[in-house]
Amino acid sequence: MRKLIVAGNWKMNKTLDEAVALVSEVVNMINDEVTGNVDVVLCPPSVYLSVLKQYIPAGGRISLGAQNCHEKASGAYTGEISAPMLQSLSVPYVILGHSERRQYFNETNEQLAAKVNIALENGLTPIFCCGESLDLRENGDYVGFVKDQLTASLFHLSAEQFANVVIAYEPIWAIGTGLTASSAQAQDMHFELRQHIAGQYGDEVAQNTTILYGGSANAANAAELFAQPDVDGGLIGGASLKSRDFTTVVKARQ
Ligand code: PGA
Repeated sequence: MRKLIVAGNWKMNKTLDEAVALVSEVVNMINDEVTGNVDVVLCPPSVYLSVLKQYIPAGGRISLGAQNCHEKASGAYTGEISAPMLQSLSVPYVILGHSERRQYFNETNEQLAAKVNIALENGLTPIFCCGESLDLRENGDYVGFVKDQLTASLFHLSAEQFANVVIAYEPIWAIGTGLTASSAQAQDMHFELRQHIAGQYGDEVAQNTTILYGGSANAANAAELFAQPDVDGGLIGGASLKSRDFTTVVKARQ
């Protein structure tokens, strides 16, 4: 059985006080209201990770993730954070290859392959993001494009390594736009990606791979998205910034 996960990507939002308040509310609501089999990953700005860790019950369903890490272990890279640093904070997850990183920070498939490697070497679970632009969706081979993102950044891994990767399909046209992919569009792509993974690693690995959907997923549409057989959870941006909305999304997945 593959893991069901709802992850919150806070992006560059919240002051420290606001971050502590949000985590405290989410922890309480999830403890009170969520009983099913779903893991929750909160990805605040990395500057808050060590503080917020103190508010998260150890050994429970909630854990922390970073939003990025550098592809090198250490060195003269002013402003960057490394996978060993995250490991030293016992942060289990790291989002890699978010479309905003690809777009604004020019992250390439090759660089992301290196980031995936160093994350895995340091015991982190990458939440590897992929997804196509609106132009590609309307005019091109968008399925091939997204498959190629996986091939280029992940398919050098052994099956054992790949088993520690979570995929997040996030169509760029749906991120922060209020324009969600329909549940059928999400299912179609998730199915294609699972087939693609099966082609490389075999059916068993593919069936065990967690594939999240992201892009304007929220309290109103999460249940329908999560009802699709290949949608194993969500990577939630805007709706993760409000405790009630985020908890509703988590409950839709349990
Ligand atoms: P959104 O962002 O839910 O605000 O569309 C999702 C993401 O970028 O991970």
